[in-house]
Amino acid sequence: MEVSFATIGELLDRHQHFILTPHMHPDGDCLGSMLGLYHYLVSRGKKVEMFLDDTVPSSFAFFPGVSVIKQPQHVKADLLIVLDASDVDRLGRVKEQVDAPILNIDHHVSNTHFAEYWLVDSSASATAEIVYGLLKHLQATITTDMAVCLYTGIVTDSGFFRYANTSPKTMRYGAELMEQGVRPHVIAELLETRSLESLTIMADVLRTLEFYADNQIAVITISPEITAKGSDYTEGLINYPRSIEHVEIAVMFKIVDANTVRISLRSNNVDVSAIAVAFGGGGHIRAAGCTFSGSIIEAKQRIIELSTATLAGQQ
Ligand code: 5GP
Ligand code: MN
Repeated sequence: MEVSFATIGELLDRHQHFILTPHMHPDGDCLGSMLGLYHYLVSRGKKVEMFLDDTVPSSFAFFPGVSVIKQPQHVKADLLIVLDASDVDRLGRVKEQVDAPILNIDHHVSNTHFAEYWLVDSSASATAEIVYGLLKHLQATITTDMAVCLYTGIVTDSGFFRYANTSPKTMRYGAELMEQGVRPHVIAELLETRSLESLTIMADVLRTLEFYADNQIAVITISPEITAKGSDYTEGLINYPRSIEHVEIAVMFKIVDANTVRISLRSNNVDVSAIAVAFGGGGHIRAAGCTFSGSIIEAKQRIIELSTATLAGQQ
């Protein structure tokens, strides 16, 4: 059932024990929106636990409250709140371990409406933008911890207010969160400071660049050897192929094992979420992803084929 801020407010008032979860392969938005809501619920005296069937990348270790996140455990609770995940597969073992109705707050166009209660706003730059809107609606007192989490969620998904999903509201919310104690330059430095090792990895990855469809598709490939040097450091590298002149679709293939490839898609205009959905994934028009079961050769062939057809359909 689709729910409004008012109904979510009633659910939060009425219940006492909440489990919060982001999606696997966590990013700044799913963590920031979850932690922002976590701090609010704790301030209301609620019992709150956060589960994640994955590890948190070290670049997000600065999030207030991140150390409270646990591996999923078997538990019965009043409500499982799923942040920024568009389908149930992205929850991993959390789904089977937690016995509770689900409230899903999300901004992906590909959301499958899998939850008992859902609020999906694909016009929001980030799920953290929706959560901040919810807290405003509930007239919450926004602490600096809440503000830091929500601001980080917004800037990671909007590329620091640069991507097409940035609206006047996104910017207004950024300003309001700054008034609650966020220091944008500190967050930017925390997110963007790189180790020397990560730069070496970037060089290794950029050497794998390949082009297809008259240079409209740019591809980078991450081998298990590169991942072994530091998997955290490959996050965000897909923005380099996307920024190349004439490139419309950028694809990053990350070889997980002989039969599994993680795929990230980015575009400047065309709908890559449809490509991801065709392979069981999802996402947004200009940023999407999926996990491919098969070899890297097969993954490349199938994704490039569909990407080329998508480009042809647009012309
Ligand atoms: P990324 O390429 O950064 O992993 O993901 C880009 C966007 O696509 C994110 O909004 C992410 O939530 C979504 N996405 C990535 N992988 C998957 C997937 O396997 N399934 C679904 N439903 N969405 C995904
Ligand atoms: Mn998001």
